[in-house]
Amino acid sequence: MRKIVIVGAGASGVYLSILLKKEMIDCDVIVLEQNSAPLKKLLATGNGRCNLSNQYINKECYQSDHPNLVYDIVRHFDVQEEMNELGLYSYYQGQLLYPKSEQALSVKHVMMQRAEELGVLFFYNQEVISIKEHGTYTLYTQQQTFHADTVIWAMGSEAGKLSGINTSRYDLLYKLNLNVVKPQPSLVQMKTNPIMKQWKGVRVKGTFSLLENHQCIHQEKGELLFTDYGVSGIAVMQLSAFYQSGHQYQLMIDFFDEIDEKKLSEYIELRINKGYNHFYDGLLHTKIASYFEKKPNDVVEQIVKQLKHFSLDIVGLNSFETAQVMKGGLSLKEVNDDLSIKKYPHMYAIGEILNVAGLCGGYNLHFAFASASHVAKAIEREDNVTST
Ligand SMILES: Cc1cc2nc3c(=O)[nH]c(=O)nc-3n(C[C@H](O)[C@H](O)[C@H](O)COP(=O)(O)OP(=O)(O)OC[C@H]3O[C@@H](n4cnc5c(N)ncnc54)[C@H](O)[C@@H]3O)c2cc1C
Repeated sequence: MRKIVIVGAGASGVYLSILLKKEMIDCDVIVLEQNSAPLKKLLATGNGRCNLSNQYINKECYQSDHPNLVYDIVRHFDVQEEMNELGLYSYYQGQLLYPKSEQALSVKHVMMQRAEELGVLFFYNQEVISIKEHGTYTLYTQQQTFHADTVIWAMGSEAGKLSGINTSRYDLLYKLNLNVVKPQPSLVQMKTNPIMKQWKGVRVKGTFSLLENHQCIHQEKGELLFTDYGVSGIAVMQLSAFYQSGHQYQLMIDFFDEIDEKKLSEYIELRINKGYNHFYDGLLHTKIASYFEKKPNDVVEQIVKQLKHFSLDIVGLNSFETAQVMKGGLSLKEVNDDLSIKKYPHMYAIGEILNVAGLCGGYNLHFAFASASHVAKAIEREDNVTST
């Protein structure tokens, strides 16, 4: 009986196990997981609500060393339809796909029940630490050895600390002589200078730009939260995807993105003429208003600049512990178009262990599921060839 071993019981690994066992009932499908339970990271997604996918899928939504391949994998994959097939009702809230239950826990229940009904075999507390190739494969954990005809790496990343912070996921790949692009936190909070500690806890809506040498690298409209180390919030997480270490960036905040500079200048002029003592109160959050305190000689241009071009230096990102994904991972140059590894027969990689990082908004789970489906089809094709 053909043995397929998937390393990692995250979103990609569990979904792949379901697809394989459904189509290839005669195969043993085994999932090895280092944690004591599956899908730990999935439970934390979307603040526990699990943002499964996004209606808008484009090449620019992913960073990778082979964007065309990523786009080929994700563009026709319909997470809503596939989850429905498993028995999970999901629906779009705006562009974002969520389970109707708004609970990541129900996604876990549906996936695990389906996998267990089909007869997928799960082994927990089994960290794979090495592998030997001898026509087929032997995988070693601290406790046991497992034989496999086909191996799939679905080891995710250390982002969020929920999938373990071991180094075995990358060590395994290095030992196989595979190129791993250095993992770096992405979709993560940013540290600023100065730290606007007085504004801690304040949320602002506006347009936020990441600047390098006064050039805009990326811009996001949305919400930002001031913290005691810098800034957080969805808009900041998105900007962090464009941050590269060793570069110097500024964050520019447009507190008044709903009106242009000319209109804001006219309004500020009027406001100055009214002679309010409470000039900034009523314009901005009170904590920001008291920091901006108007001086008698402030001219319109200075005030408008402060409101539309308020700038802070970015001095770094928070660590992987609070990141949603890691940029980097197994280079796509090591894989064929079906995600099989060029140097080893019957070996594949899926999900976040690959050098693919999506933006916030369901793109990473979309890739985890789509890449699993892509590989399931490749393994089924392989199986059809060997059985004819
Ligand atoms: C807080 C948070 C919120 C997020 N929210 C969203 C969201 O709403 N929408 C979205 O699209 N994405 C979100 N993401 C990103 C998304 O969760 C991940 O990209 C996705 O879960 C990756 O799935 P995966 O199967 O590739 O990897 P993982 O989920 O990381 O699973 C990999 C598994 O492999 C196991 N493993 C690793 N090494 C070994 C080994 N050597 N031996 C055995 N097992 C091993 C790990 O323990 C883990 O269980 C979020 C991430 C975080 C941290």
